[in-house]
Amino acid sequence: MAVQTVAGSTTPSAPAVDLGPAAALSCRECGERFELGPLFACASCFGPLEVAYDLPTGSPEELRKRIESGPDNIWRYAPLLPVPADVAEKPNINPGFTKLVKADNLARELGVTGGLYVKDDSGNPTHSFKDRVVAIAVEAARAFGFTTLSCSSTGNLAGAVGAAAARAGLRSCVFIPHDLEQGKVVMAAVYGGELVGIEGTYDDVNRFCSELIGDPLGEGWGFVNVNLRPYYGEGSKTLAYEICEQLGWKLPDQIVIPIASGSQLTKIDKGFQELIRLGLVEDKPYKIFGAQAEGCSPVSAAFKAGHDVVRPQKPNTIAKSLAIGNPADGPYVLDIARRTGGAVEDVTDEQVVDAIKLLARTEGIFGETAGGVTVGVTKKLVEAGVLDPTLTTVVLNTGDGLKTLDAVAPTSQATATIKPSLDAFRAAGLASA
Ligand SMILES: *Cc1c(COP(=O)(O)O)cnc(C)c1O
Repeated sequence: MAVQTVAGSTTPSAPAVDLGPAAALSCRECGERFELGPLFACASCFGPLEVAYDLPTGSPEELRKRIESGPDNIWRYAPLLPVPADVAEKPNINPGFTKLVKADNLARELGVTGGLYVKDDSGNPTHSFKDRVVAIAVEAARAFGFTTLSCSSTGNLAGAVGAAAARAGLRSCVFIPHDLEQGKVVMAAVYGGELVGIEGTYDDVNRFCSELIGDPLGEGWGFVNVNLRPYYGEGSKTLAYEICEQLGWKLPDQIVIPIASGSQLTKIDKGFQELIRLGLVEDKPYKIFGAQAEGCSPVSAAFKAGHDVVRPQKPNTIAKSLAIGNPADGPYVLDIARRTGGAVEDVTDEQVVDAIKLLARTEGIFGETAGGVTVGVTKKLVEAGVLDPTLTTVVLNTGDGLKTLDAVAPTSQATATIKPSLDAFRAAGLASA
């Protein structure tokens, strides 16, 4: 096995690395393998690296039992993740095992008869799915001896990193576009780490962080979504595991996933494939659908045009958590959507707002704009006859509406403001008939 360091990546004097079943990093393009380390690009072909495993070899029944007797968080899947076996005993924010809500009211409204579920990841510690990926990156940071945790973020990631670093006793310094929603800024700052607003888009922030990694200024820093990206990405597999376990160890027929960089979507597919390989679920076809906002829809545009490459866009949408104009995993998303018989679709900001309110009014779930994107795209795909309404369908809500209040505030206000008297209430016309 070659031991290599990608130019610019800083390798602190490494202790023996114990990341459980993680065996190596392997290149998604050429398959070359590298020792576990803070690497993210193949030294031969510059392809993205991902974690390769020695997965458990026992019977599926044994593994299923072991998982079911584990903690009520993502660490129940520790045998399938790049984390040490004693991970549950370390200070971490322990995300996961969020609710899978059977959304019968929404299903009726959309005309879905085969069973519609909302996987509600607003229930995580910092109220977005990002806690899953950060929890894994923290273990990698510890294993590689990093003392500062960092990231480039569209908002939710910064908060998740701040919280996880605080809990793990690491320093954090995170970078965001300067013009994010107040809810995201405050949630990123409140945990006491450093928060830096960059005058530019997320893509500018990301480019800046890549430069910082190659500079002595960033020495000893673990950027969860850059030099720790292969580990970080694995956290999204837990969404696939949980959904299948919560469905009674069954794959859904269809799933609608939001796309920012595309990492989450590709890793949910990887999670499904692993469960099939391990015999934990029956092997059957499933379709993966990607969802974007029209104002930042580079993957959807490529899908519709039949292209294999994704042309970068300059984002302009209220779905800021998904506003990545140059998505790193875009081509892999296209591949997965096409291979599974799914699609990638987008909705306007107005449809995003309508869908946030639709989900809230039918199921009592207040999703952030990214949730409006997935629900809106689900509605659009059912109406277009692309999503089959007779099949079991899972829609992700990946964040909390309290962080994106501005999106719905103009159309969600008090019905009336009155004097505290029955006469005033009667005059407002709200009394029961
Ligand atoms: C980051 C994020 C996503 C998706 O991110 P990927 O980069 O595609 O993995 C989805 N929803 C929310 C709310 C997010 O913050």
